[in-house]
Amino acid sequence: MLNWPASVLAKTLRGLSRKLLFTVPNGCACFCDTMCLDILRQRKKVLLLLLLMASGSIFYYLYTLKLERERDANVSSTTSRLEREISDLQAVFESEVVPQLGALGRPARGNWTTEELEAIAKSQRETGYNAWLSKRISPERTLYDMRHRSCKKLKYPLEKLPSVSVVITYHNEEASVLLRTLSSLRSRTPVLLLREIILVDDGSSSVDEKLNDFLQIKFLNMVKHHRISTQVGLIQARVTGANLALADVLVFLDSHVEVTHGWLEPLLAPILTSNRTCTTPIIDTIDYETFAYRRGKPSRGFFNWQLNYIQLPLLKEEAVAMPAPHKNPIMNGGLFAIGRQWFAELGGYDKGLKIWGGEQLELSLKLWLCGGQILEVPCSRIGHLYRDGNFQIRYTDKDKNSEKKLIQRNYRRVAEVWLDELKDKVFANMPHLTVIPAGNLAEQRDLRKRLHCKPFKWFLDHLAADFLNLYPIIDPAEYATGVLQSVSSPKLCLDRTESRPGRPKLSSCSGDRVFPRSELHWTLTNHRELQSGLLCLEVRNQGMEVYIYHCHRQKGNQFWSFDPKTRQVISGQMQDSRLCLEVQPEIHAVTTGDCDPKNSKQQWKFGYQNNERLHHFWDNVKTH
Ligand code: UDP
Ligand code: MN
Repeated sequence: MLNWPASVLAKTLRGLSRKLLFTVPNGCACFCDTMCLDILRQRKKVLLLLLLMASGSIFYYLYTLKLERERDANVSSTTSRLEREISDLQAVFESEVVPQLGALGRPARGNWTTEELEAIAKSQRETGYNAWLSKRISPERTLYDMRHRSCKKLKYPLEKLPSVSVVITYHNEEASVLLRTLSSLRSRTPVLLLREIILVDDGSSSVDEKLNDFLQIKFLNMVKHHRISTQVGLIQARVTGANLALADVLVFLDSHVEVTHGWLEPLLAPILTSNRTCTTPIIDTIDYETFAYRRGKPSRGFFNWQLNYIQLPLLKEEAVAMPAPHKNPIMNGGLFAIGRQWFAELGGYDKGLKIWGGEQLELSLKLWLCGGQILEVPCSRIGHLYRDGNFQIRYTDKDKNSEKKLIQRNYRRVAEVWLDELKDKVFANMPHLTVIPAGNLAEQRDLRKRLHCKPFKWFLDHLAADFLNLYPIIDPAEYATGVLQSVSSPKLCLDRTESRPGRPKLSSCSGDRVFPRSELHWTLTNHRELQSGLLCLEVRNQGMEVYIYHCHRQKGNQFWSFDPKTRQVISGQMQDSRLCLEVQPEIHAVTTGDCDPKNSKQQWKFGYQNNERLHHFWDNVKTH
C-alpha cells in the first residue's frame, strides 16, 4: 500500500465519493468532489499522512500482540501457582491418608509400631480422640447406608424444599476431623439445598491460615469462615453463626460429624409442612479410638430432676410406626434443623445463657411450650464423634471457677423461667443452684408472655407420662410432701415466707395441694427433716420456738416425724422429749406444745403422704 501511485489513490477516493453520492444529498457530494481534488493537489502531504497512519496501526497491532502474550503468560503462571498451592495444601492436610482405611465406616485398624502407638496415645490425651488416626482416614471416606429400607424409597421434591445454612462452631478441632465433616456435607447434600456452610472458629488457640486457604480452595465459595478471636463458648458462637446465615433453614452441627447419604431431605420435609417444627436426626456414633461408624438408636430425649439429659424409650405406637418421625421432648442439642424465622421469633437462645450447658433444654422447652414441636426423623442419620469421657473442652477464662459457675447459672435460669413450681423439685435435688444469682430474667419472662407459652405441666402431661413413672415428682424416699395444712384452720398452711432463715408464718392454702408454690411446699424427707427449698423447720429454746434455718442433716432440733393416725407433726427423736407443732390462727404463727392427740390445733394434713414409707418411719431410729 505504501508504494501505490497517487492516481490509484485518487481513483479510490473518487470511488468512495461516488458511493457517497448514492447515499447522501447532492450538496454533500459536490463538497466531496472538491475535497478530493484538493487532496490530489497536495499528493506529498497525503502520502506522508498515510505513511504515518499505516506505521501507527502496525505499531498498535504489535503492541496488542505483546500485551496478549504477557496476559497469557500471567494466566498460565497463576494457574500453575494455584495448582502448586492446592497440592502444597493437600500435602499439608491430606498427604498421610491411607486409601481404604476406615472405608464404609469400618473400624480403622493397623499394626502400629511402638512409636506410632505412643503418638496415638498422645493425640488422644490432647484431643479426646485418635487424631493421629483421623489424619490417615480419607476425608471423603465412604459410609455404609444404615437407613431403614423404606427410607431409601422415599422421594422428596427438591425444588420445593427450603435451602439451608449449615452452622458449625468449633474450638480447637483437629483439621482432619473438621475436613471430614465438611467433605461429608459437600458430597452428601444436594447442591440445590446447600446454600452455605458457616464455620465459626470460637477462639481456637492458634489460627491456621493454611487451613483457611485450603477450605476456600477445596470448598470454593461454599464455606464462610468466621473467627471469634476470644472464646465465647458454644452458645454465643452459634448465635454469631446464625446471625450470618441467609438461607431459610438453619442446620446446627458439631464440628466432628459425618452426615450420611440422604440426611438432609427428611429433616426438611417436616419443616416444609409446618414451619414451627424443629427436626433432629438419629445420632450414630463415631468411635473415638477407631473411627468406626456405629448405629445409634432412635430415642426420646428428656431430663432428670438434676437437669441431666436422659433418653427415654420410644412409646409403643411410635416404635410400631418407625421410621416415621416421632416427638422428641428434649433434643440432644448438638444437631438439629430449624426455620431461621422461627428461631428468631423464639429469640434464638436466651442471651443470658453463657458458654454452654442447659441451652438444649431452654430451646426445647421454649419450642414445645410456645407453639412449636421437635420431631426426631429416623430416616436422617448423622454420625457424631463422641470423645473419650475424660476429655472436655475447657472455657479459658481468668477466673478458674467461672466455667462451673456459668453452667450452674444457665441451669438456674432455665429452671426459673420454664419449670414453674417444679423448679423446686430441681432445686431440692441441686440445692447449690439457689445460691447462684440467675441474672436478669425479665426479657425471658416477657417472651414467655408475648408468645403465650403454655405452663410446664402441659409439657409433662402431653409428652412424658412415662417419664413421671420413671422419675416421679414425688420421690418414694419422701415420707410426705406438698402443703402442710392445719386441720382445725383448714384455710391455713405453713409458709416459709422467703428463702432466708427466719420465722415461718401461716398463709392461705391457695393453689395445688401437692404442687403448691414453693413457699408452701414442704417435704418430710428421707433425712426425717421438714424441708422447704434449701431450708428446714427447727425448734429452739428447749423446743419453745419454731424457726426456719439451713438444713443441717444432723437430726437434733431439725428431726421431725408425722403420725398418720393422730395427724401430729412431732419434733424430736427421743420419746421423752417430743413436742407437737401447733397452729396459732390468731397470730398466723406456729408454736410447739405438749403432744395431745385430742388437741385439734396439733392436727395437720400433707398434700401427699406416702403411707407405705410412713409405716416404716421408725425403723432403725433410736428413740430412747
Ligand atoms: N464448641 C465451641 N466453643 C466452645 C466449646 C465447644 O464452639 O467453647 C463447639 C465444639 O467444637 C463442637 C460443639 O461446640 O463443635 C459442641 O461441643 P462438644 O462437641 O464439646 O459438645 P458434646 O458433643 O461433647 O456435647
Ligand atoms: Mn460434639
